[in-house]
Amino acid sequence: MPTTTRRVHNFYAGPATMPAEAIARAQSELLDFAGTGMSVMEISHRAKPYMAIQAEAEALVRELLAVPSNYKVLFLQGGASMQFAMVPMNLLPPERHADYVVTGEFAKKALKEAKLLGKTRVAGTGEATNFDRLPSALDLSPDAAYAHITSNNTIFGTQYQAFPETGDVPLVADMSSDIMWRPTDVTRFGLIYAGAQKNLGPSGVTLVIVREDLLERAPENLPSMLAYRTHAKADSMYNTPPTFAIYMLRNVLDWVKGQGGLAEMEARNRRKAEAIYGVIDRHAGFYAGHAQVEDRSMMNVTFRLPGEELEKAFLAGAQEQGFVGLAGHRSVGGCRASIYNAMPLEGALALAEYMEAFARQHG
Ligand code: PMP
Repeated sequence: MPTTTRRVHNFYAGPATMPAEAIARAQSELLDFAGTGMSVMEISHRAKPYMAIQAEAEALVRELLAVPSNYKVLFLQGGASMQFAMVPMNLLPPERHADYVVTGEFAKKALKEAKLLGKTRVAGTGEATNFDRLPSALDLSPDAAYAHITSNNTIFGTQYQAFPETGDVPLVADMSSDIMWRPTDVTRFGLIYAGAQKNLGPSGVTLVIVREDLLERAPENLPSMLAYRTHAKADSMYNTPPTFAIYMLRNVLDWVKGQGGLAEMEARNRRKAEAIYGVIDRHAGFYAGHAQVEDRSMMNVTFRLPGEELEKAFLAGAQEQGFVGLAGHRSVGGCRASIYNAMPLEGALALAEYMEAFARQHG
């Protein structure tokens, strides 16, 4: 990177910080990709140089998450929000129902779409306590078509540390804001989906990992673009894929691999989260964490200060020191530090230091 380039500590919830190396790699080959004399953006998706990129992106997903061979890896469009509808369209037959665990705004949206399309049940909800914890006991039914969870609640800052047991009922997870934060046993899931714009790359591509036996559940008359089996059969090339977004995803995952893979990501993510939660706990009278301790997210740290004036001063001071994106989501207010895989340890430590100093000065 040119030495004049300035990079802030970027705590946005998504789109979010990406590894500088992944972006610099794109910059270095933007006009001439691998000696083709073309930008990646200008290459036909059916041409070899691009097909190689998409194949590598898929291989990296498979390697990093140890995806078994009976699962398809798909690159789709429409964001995680499109998956809110595609999941029931494909997996929920009219005579059956799906169980939904409602742990935040996105879980509510997922349920809303499913309700439009079929029968649903709420197997647990955290609404009564403003989603500050995950429901402790779930009312899961053994005959559900699938059970849907949100592995990390981006807005409220809660996260499953252990996934619910659903027996033979396929577990479907929206992992948009924590996919690949640590090694994950894919075999526990029937389907995983994630918008790319937190841990995987830029917005514009959505990753879906789906067990092959579930592909055939979709009704015959489901429009082709909405059926997983269409994309599975066509290796995510049924229509023009978002080539540049997939290329960037490749760059990001290649970086993850080079850093030591998901075990290394987990170690770093835990250190980052501990540093920030550590300040919150040491100054418990000043900072109030939104999430109950046992359900705290390692990706999105949500907290309040005593009063809006102090919150404003905290955010203004943070901005001055090069910390960006710390305002909480408009539906909860307060502050939120998103510390995805690409947030360097130094960034989290610098924020912890700022929070410590701010509490000492104003507490
Ligand atoms: N699920 C979760 C957990 C999210 O955090 C988000 C948005 N950031 C979404 C779904 C919606 O994703 P998209 O904007 O890609 O549709």
